[in-house]
Amino acid sequence: MSNKQQNTCEWLPEFHEKRLPTPLVNLNVQGLNTPLVESLSSYLSRCADHIDLTVKDVLCHVISPLLSHQYLTPARVTESSFSAIAAMNGRCGTSAEWVRVLGMLSHCQDLIHTNFLMFRNIIPDKKLLNRDRSWCPVCLNELREQNRVYEPLLFNVAEVKACPRHGCWLVDRCPCCQSKSPVLAPRIVPGYCTSCGEWLGAGNAPQVSPSEESYLRVANLVGDLLAVGPTLREQPKRERIADFIAFLIRTRMKDKSARALARLLKINHSYVLDWLNGAYVPMLGNLLWICQVFNVTLVEIANGDFFEESTAYEPACETSTGLNVTSQSPIDWPMIHQTMQRIASGEEPPRKVIDIARSCNCHVSALYQFDSRLCKAVTRRYKDQEHQRQAQEEEIFVAQIRQYLRECQSLEMLPIKNEIYKRFGGRSKKRQEIVERVFEEEGL
Ligand SMILES: [Zn+2]
Ligand SMILES: [Zn+2]
Repeated sequence: MSNKQQNTCEWLPEFHEKRLPTPLVNLNVQGLNTPLVESLSSYLSRCADHIDLTVKDVLCHVISPLLSHQYLTPARVTESSFSAIAAMNGRCGTSAEWVRVLGMLSHCQDLIHTNFLMFRNIIPDKKLLNRDRSWCPVCLNELREQNRVYEPLLFNVAEVKACPRHGCWLVDRCPCCQSKSPVLAPRIVPGYCTSCGEWLGAGNAPQVSPSEESYLRVANLVGDLLAVGPTLREQPKRERIADFIAFLIRTRMKDKSARALARLLKINHSYVLDWLNGAYVPMLGNLLWICQVFNVTLVEIANGDFFEESTAYEPACETSTGLNVTSQSPIDWPMIHQTMQRIASGEEPPRKVIDIARSCNCHVSALYQFDSRLCKAVTRRYKDQEHQRQAQEEEIFVAQIRQYLRECQSLEMLPIKNEIYKRFGGRSKKRQEIVERVFEEEGL
């Protein structure tokens, strides 16, 4: 990890007083025109690293004085502000402001492709991004060899769980201290843990199995969309979604009704009506589900390509469920049954029922209808595993607290609870209870 100065650089006051040229040099956006294009938060932390400042220093001392509202002063920027600032990777009003301000400071023209601004009219913010970082260890190690470590926007997307390049699951816990790490933090450096500072690429990444390949399809759908961003002449219009839904109803539903589409997608009828009249656009998860059911890509939707060719879609045909689907692959119930039985009996690692449903291209309620007893057994196993994981985490945390207390004792310092949260993976109600308990046990 780079050795950052605790306080700001000597040149900073001079920079503002004399209006010196911006200290954020023109770094290139990494992975532009590819599915693994860099995220805006990664760009910001690389800029900070480049001039040997922390992200917090850059926010408070370089960027803040240039903003009209002084909300980034050192007193106001706390740990919790960073998760709000990380929304810069999305498509909201502040994402645009960050592209503008960072673009002004770095003279980089490509920052609009480091978040979802290009797709703001067709993808809503809700449930779009993860609060914590996810990464592909193989990607990280490759990037380190090429001396260009950054964090792709794709891995910040909540729906993306696998790396399309390496076909492996993404990781979200540090291989060294097991902490989760937020997307943006005061001293974050791409590729390194915010809790212990270790390299995040050290662990291994299990491969996605063929029965779960829908996760790779999802990662490819989103990645391809991010890759074409720079080739689009303008932001796709909001009407594109309503047109697309109308197109599906017109060409894919036998009775051409919104109700039939809702039934097929196993969603509330009112959602389809809202999309159709433009009141709302589907959340990314729903849009991806539609893509999978109808074998359409996000790029085709963004480009409006679905209007042009009529031969790509076969005429609607009856399926066994009586619904009209053209390109949904049939659900392999015997295979699903086998998988769930293996999970319930412990032959396969535990998984959520909803994840099994997704990987089999069916809705979770269909799985419960199919065999609710088995679904409950699978859920029980998943919960057991979660409890075990939590117990392990708690054990590690208690050890970390005790270690800290010993350190304080040897330095004759008073232990500070906030310091514990800062060092070891943040604060939560549960973690506060643990700290209280350990303090009590130690007679503090
Ligand atoms: Zn990868
Ligand atoms: Zn760590």
